[in-house]
Amino acid sequence: MKLPIYMDNHSTTPCDPRVVDAMLPYFTEKFGNSASRNHSFGWEAEEGVDTARKQIAKLINADSKEIVFTSGATESNNLALKGVAEMYREKGDHIITSSTEHRAVIDPAKSLEKKGVKVTYLSVDKTGTVNPDDVRNAITDKTILISIMLANNEIGTINPIKEIGKIAKEKGVLFHCDATQGVGKIPVNVQELGVDLMSFSAHKIYGPKGIGALYVRRRAPRVRLVPMLDGGGHERGMRSGTLPVPLIVGFGKAAELCEQEMATESVRMMALRDRLKAGIMGAMEEVYLNGHPTERLPGNLNISFAYVEGEALLMGVKEIALSSGSACTSATLEPSYVLRALGVGSDLAHSSIRFGIGRFTTEEEVDYTIDRMLKAVNHLREMSPLYEMAKEGIDLSTVEWAAH
Ligand code: PMP
Repeated sequence: MKLPIYMDNHSTTPCDPRVVDAMLPYFTEKFGNSASRNHSFGWEAEEGVDTARKQIAKLINADSKEIVFTSGATESNNLALKGVAEMYREKGDHIITSSTEHRAVIDPAKSLEKKGVKVTYLSVDKTGTVNPDDVRNAITDKTILISIMLANNEIGTINPIKEIGKIAKEKGVLFHCDATQGVGKIPVNVQELGVDLMSFSAHKIYGPKGIGALYVRRRAPRVRLVPMLDGGGHERGMRSGTLPVPLIVGFGKAAELCEQEMATESVRMMALRDRLKAGIMGAMEEVYLNGHPTERLPGNLNISFAYVEGEALLMGVKEIALSSGSACTSATLEPSYVLRALGVGSDLAHSSIRFGIGRFTTEEEVDYTIDRMLKAVNHLREMSPLYEMAKEGIDLSTVEWAAH
């Protein structure tokens, strides 16, 4: 086993070597501009893009004409929210989203608010799930868009997208889904889910960074968008700019591999995730699972270790790449807003760790991680006066701390 261990696959994934192999010719001999219509270099590049578009469309059961290439899910989300808000301004000025969306949805929503758009941020239950009834109740005759994520990037909770899609259709409101963490990991079918717009990114599915897509429904209803970029009119006028052919070819290959291997891969990842969960939670007291017990991404595990500060814990296991819900590096010292939205207290939010198992994670790495986490948590707890007091039976919430 090689150190360091990568267990942060929600953040990004390594490129699959098969993806790199598919991309390489498009940097050198097949370097043409896919928009060059009058020579073989252009045709060759266009062929690469067409194949990729089909591979990506197949993964989500869309038509290849409905795929708009972007630089990543951040851009896709911006295009969906801002593009719809601007295009349908006459129809209405209200958007519904949730409080646990990624910043790439929350921030465009906030920016639209500054321009007079009204946004409802739905709260979630303690598993992090959006209630479809809340979506229904929030809809007004001014609602032009619902934007709810498929799976959360911190806690892995999977939302009832199909139910929300039904409500959106019934009420005639467009439905956007940020599916960045779900596509390629769990089955995604845009027809079944009833989504009209969907964002995702190649670098979360073992493809290259810098390329993503927005699915834009063409029929029933035909979705229209005001583009963010004006220019050569590429991507049906929705996203101008010369296509990054090698990245697109890689994205296509990555999508194809996910489609072919998802069934076996997700079972393997879930088994590793459950092994990690049992190894940690079965051997330690005062550890709490964050997110949904079953409706969660196969590779996601999020645990709070009471009496231990997340960032300190990460420093104690430096040879393992993980992520914490504590944000001590930021100016605010605010812990994860996602965990807070679930009702997790500030202390436990600060003590949370996200484990992201991926395609290349091995059983040996999981076992090593279990062992290191147990040792590191126990070590930090031994040094914690709070933990000592709690063990003596003192209820910490009743302690009156001296002011100085
Ligand atoms: N949405 C979600 C749910 C994500 O997890 C991420 C990436 N962390 C993004 C959007 C942004 O994706 P990208 O980095 O491709 O812009």
